[in-house]
Amino acid sequence: MAEPLLRIGAAYIRVSDERQDEYSPDSQLKKIREYAAKEGYQIPDDYVFYDDGISGKSTRKRGEFNLMIAVAKEKNHPFDKIYVWKFSRFARNQEESLVYKNLLRKHDVAVVSVSEPLPDGAYGDLIERIIEWMDEFYLTNLATEVRRGMTEKASRGEPTCAPPFGYIMRDGCYYPDEDSGAADIVREIFRRYADGEGMREIANNIGTRGVRTKFGGMPQNRWIEYILNNPCYIGMIRWSRDGVRAVSKRDYDNDNIMTVQGHHEPLIDRALWDDVRIRLEAQKRLYPAHARREQPIEYMLKGLVRCSSCGGTLAVNGISGKARTRCLQCCNYARAACHVSHGITIPRIESAVIGCLRQAVGSQTFAVMPSKPRESEQKGVDYDKLITLEKRRLERAKEAYLAGVDTIEQYAAVKEDSTNKIAELTAMRDRDNAPQSLDTASYAAKVAKVLEIITDEEIAPAAKNEALRTVVEKIVYNKPEERVEIYFWGE
Ligand SMILES: [Zn+2]
Repeated sequence: MAEPLLRIGAAYIRVSDERQDEYSPDSQLKKIREYAAKEGYQIPDDYVFYDDGISGKSTRKRGEFNLMIAVAKEKNHPFDKIYVWKFSRFARNQEESLVYKNLLRKHDVAVVSVSEPLPDGAYGDLIERIIEWMDEFYLTNLATEVRRGMTEKASRGEPTCAPPFGYIMRDGCYYPDEDSGAADIVREIFRRYADGEGMREIANNIGTRGVRTKFGGMPQNRWIEYILNNPCYIGMIRWSRDGVRAVSKRDYDNDNIMTVQGHHEPLIDRALWDDVRIRLEAQKRLYPAHARREQPIEYMLKGLVRCSSCGGTLAVNGISGKARTRCLQCCNYARAACHVSHGITIPRIESAVIGCLRQAVGSQTFAVMPSKPRESEQKGVDYDKLITLEKRRLERAKEAYLAGVDTIEQYAAVKEDSTNKIAELTAMRDRDNAPQSLDTASYAAKVAKVLEIITDEEIAPAAKNEALRTVVEKIVYNKPEERVEIYFWGE
């Protein structure tokens, strides 16, 4: 029979001047090796990590410790256990110890304290739970750290995302994509637009010549617009502080988007960029966004129904069944920005709204959203701002804790206090924004008149829509609860 293979472990030793009664590093290592051997582990000299932690206030100074963590995080890490004399020698405090232990656990590396083995049973479970809680906490912070890192990268002019059309990425830098001709296409788009051609015209022209977008799609005017608005082509790097979403949503005027000088070669010069800007501005003035999108009103509820989950407007998105009935859907759901489907056929929502209006007229009760300044505004209280400030305070406390400035107790105290305050402020804000009720016979008569118009088969949808808008501010459709709420303008 073959002898069981010895498994490989690592040892971490840190000495400090805090304790005079401690074993010397050599005797610690001896005891560690004895303990490991009983578990079938061998610790080669190469994997003995030693830090002289005389002033070990921060992990930054613990060079060997960091090296050991780095080795453990490697894909084919050579050891799967790290032996320490005491957990307190492993990290400078319990919290940090848990964070690192958990990080290592993710890489299947266990940390074993030779002089204080983890107890079994209830106490061990408790520790497991604490570790899990730390895990969550650690990951939350990691996302913030990643974002901060990306922001720093962008502020140095280094790209943080895939190159736009016309560039290729090599060694973390953008280079003009001359080989495929994409760089020339970008130059052409700018030149032609500055010369007065329309976006659709340019898109059609280059599309028929076989040009496709990065994702293989036919060029459309929106794509042309996106290219014309991308400062990357004059050598800038763009980055959104709240992640990539704002950039990809083509929100060109977002405050959170920062633009800095990049290190890559521009495809077009400033003069051409400025010419394009002038024309884009002029076009925007000539054709405001709402005018460009204006379409005939083909059903009476157009633009009036909102999604209860995200507040988005419901719009026609398809047809259903043999009768080819048109369906409405939350506009955000269609582009995956809302996660609750609010699909409903037009006849169903129309009859629900009519029923709801009849009920309101019958009971003479009309929900009205507050429009006049409420008490809070008279006092100058901005709950949203206070909530944001409180959230920021909580975020800072978390950072202070992770940076080792505050203890976990200090953080926990701030967290509790902050969470309570946020809940309190949210409740006050909601109370302030709650709809009022209007109950007058004269308003009921006005709504009854509108009801007459919208139930008249002879009247066109556009006229019904106009009539509805004189009394209805918005209709909220709550699909999960199969409920329709109507909010009125009031008198
Ligand atoms: Zn929605």
